[in-house]
Amino acid sequence: MSYRGGIDLGGTKIQAVVIDDDHEVAGQSRRPTPTKGSPADVASEIAAALEEAAAGASVETSALIGIGVGSPGKVDDSAGTVTGAKNLPGWAGSFDLRSALEEACGAPVALGNDVQVATDAEFELGAGRPYQSVLGVFWGTGVGGGIVLDGKPWLGRDAAGEIGHVVVKMGGAECPCGRQGCMEAYAGRLAMELRARKDVERGEKTQLFKIMEERGRTRLTSGVWSRALDRGDELAERLIERAVRALGAGVGSCVNVLDVEAVIIGGGLGLRLGQPYVDRIREAMEPHLFANENPPAVELAALGDLGGAIGASLLARHLVRS
Ligand SMILES: [Zn+2]
Repeated sequence: MSYRGGIDLGGTKIQAVVIDDDHEVAGQSRRPTPTKGSPADVASEIAAALEEAAAGASVETSALIGIGVGSPGKVDDSAGTVTGAKNLPGWAGSFDLRSALEEACGAPVALGNDVQVATDAEFELGAGRPYQSVLGVFWGTGVGGGIVLDGKPWLGRDAAGEIGHVVVKMGGAECPCGRQGCMEAYAGRLAMELRARKDVERGEKTQLFKIMEERGRTRLTSGVWSRALDRGDELAERLIERAVRALGAGVGSCVNVLDVEAVIIGGGLGLRLGQPYVDRIREAMEPHLFANENPPAVELAALGDLGGAIGASLLARHLVRS
């Protein structure tokens, strides 16, 4: 049996997995992403998380065939660098992540875009298996997208799949990206939290922030939204409904361009809210579909929150040890 490593590098957590030849998870570990320091500090945490995951599979990291990393920011696999990963500490510039990890782990490293590798994982091993073309929609802090066409990832010139920034309302709400009317300005968890805070300042009642405190959080996490919905919180329901409508318009419009066979909904909120909300997004898409007699399948991501790390491990398949 041989093993590969996979890393999902996010703004809040580093998820590491060790995967065997059958794509089964043999070991895993999760660590918080450092909030201060430098890219080198983040690389050390990645190496530590991978070491724990490898220990779970009873192997050394140096025995791995290779390690794949799904990273935010601009990823250049040929150069081994990640540039401008804004959610990571001190990472405005460029950092040679490959060299740092190869030295720390003793195995070759391949880099990929975090959202694209999660889409590739769903395409190959998850909800996308029956299809040749899929659009992955990752509904979380922001809204990320990944595209597979005719069985191949579509990266464009490097920036394809930014589905969160399709415009669903001209001159609409301000997006965290600084533009206006983007889907993410209505559906991203960060933007939804800002809106909820404003509504509370205006005197609206909600249990969202009480639930946040009860759960010892400082942010409206997916779990907080989910609980507020369970308790019938009106503001939460209204903002989620607004998000679902924005997703319907944005994703539906992308389907009009790409005509993919399936849309796969993942991400922190997507996974937490689950199938009932996937069904609501499907319904919200319907009025926007041009070829509405032949809508795409809309599926919940099947690999759960390990999907990103499993997808990253797929990057390591073609690595050759030097
Ligand atoms: Zn935007």
